Amino acid sequence: MLFDTNVVIVGAGPGGVTTSLYLSRYKIPHIIIDKADFPRDKICGDGLSGKVVGVLQDLNPDWIDEMQQDKSRFLDSWGVRFVAPNGQAVDLPFRINKEKPKRAPGFIAKRYEFDQFLFSKLHRGFASVFTGMRLTDAVQADDGMILKLQVGKDTFEGKAKIVVAADGDHSIIAKKFAGKHLQPDAYYAGLRAYYSGVLERHPQNFIELHFLKECLPGYFWIFPLPGDEVNVGLGILSKDVKKRGLHIKNIFESIIQFNPDIHERFKFAKLVQPVRGWRLPLAKEKHALSGDHFLLVGDAGSLVDPFTGEGIGNAMVSGQIAAQIINRAMEAENFSAAFLKQYDTSVYDSLWSELSLSQTLHRLVRHRHLFNFVVNRINSNKRLQETFSTMFNNLDNRAMLRSPMFYLRMLLNI
Ligand SMILES: Cc1cc2nc3c(=O)[nH]c(=O)nc-3n(C[C@H](O)[C@H](O)[C@H](O)COP(=O)(O)OP(=O)(O)OC[C@H]3O[C@@H](n4cnc5c(N)ncnc54)[C@H](O)[C@@H]3O)c2cc1C
Repeated sequence: MLFDTNVVIVGAGPGGVTTSLYLSRYKIPHIIIDKADFPRDKICGDGLSGKVVGVLQDLNPDWIDEMQQDKSRFLDSWGVRFVAPNGQAVDLPFRINKEKPKRAPGFIAKRYEFDQFLFSKLHRGFASVFTGMRLTDAVQADDGMILKLQVGKDTFEGKAKIVVAADGDHSIIAKKFAGKHLQPDAYYAGLRAYYSGVLERHPQNFIELHFLKECLPGYFWIFPLPGDEVNVGLGILSKDVKKRGLHIKNIFESIIQFNPDIHERFKFAKLVQPVRGWRLPLAKEKHALSGDHFLLVGDAGSLVDPFTGEGIGNAMVSGQIAAQIINRAMEAENFSAAFLKQYDTSVYDSLWSELSLSQTLHRLVRHRHLFNFVVNRINSNKRLQETFSTMFNNLDNRAMLRSPMFYLRMLLNI
């Protein structure tokens, strides 16, 4: 046996690394493995929201300063441009303070860079790191979980009292022990491409979400990156792809070639890397996030926001909570499903109000005319624009979007 230990984290993406960083804070030695060697690419929109900044702030505020200063890898972002199905756009800053705060509310960075940045912060005093090591199977034992591992052509076994599955959407442990499977109405099919030379970048690096009728309730995005590059992509509900027999790459190419608001901006653009696809597992319902000897973190636990498609922040928050629960489990020497259930409760207590609100928005967005109307009204009313800007940080304000009265007042301009 290669190891027989207390804690193993499978996956060194944002969820796994955050778990490791907090375990190190609790002074808990652990192993973290990843099938890839770092740095490595990850298909993503590369948007790092305020939630990501919040976790980093808690881990070490100096890291945010580092990101802000490293302009060749991290671009600070100050807001979002929403484009309604009728082409009308509205710019909403993340913060409405008159004075620009010292730290950017969000960033955009290629995952190749951001994940390497996080990976470099692992605390080697507590974390034993094995890259190029793939989990191929897992078997429950009375006192832990036996992990089947592969490095090149060699195979090994390891054992742990508790395993954190942070191995993304295809998580072996989530499929085998938590019944995770592809549900077309709880997945986006996503595409990502890197371009250079795209025209009309926002001066404050706002990210752009284009809610085009062919993607609803998903969207086409353009996110600026450091230098001259942009991340361009598309997310469409897997259910629609299946039901309507859509070819997502054709839709992507036809938007760039023919959409009147987008096409002109790409007339000098060059594709820097081939277009690549990956799925986004959406948090559409509460499901098990733990069991005997395991916890699911991030995409392994399907925690992507169904409206925004944001998953990095939720992966990091779930990693933070996982470390907290592991600390308790170690103290109690209890790694049973019954004990670890508190992880599910804690994660959903922390994320569910936002996720369930996002489910409502995800449904509302299908109503194109409502979307067009709202954007139109925000554009003609400064006060409303400020109200919407507060919604990024204030969940109670965002909850107003659920209320028919809110739309009625908008209609009546009161
Ligand atoms: C097209 C697209 C656009 C997106 N845009 C955004 C965005 O702009 N902002 C945002 O916040 N979120 C976005 N997301 C979601 C985001 O990418 C994920 O939610 C996030 O990466 C989840 O982090 P994670 O740590 O759970 O998993 P991952 O980032 O997937 O990391 C999993 C790690 O596990 C490793 N691994 C996998 N299998 C094994 C194995 N068998 N053995 C060992 N190691 C293994 C992998 O190599 C990887 O390093 C997007 C997703 C897609 C597909």
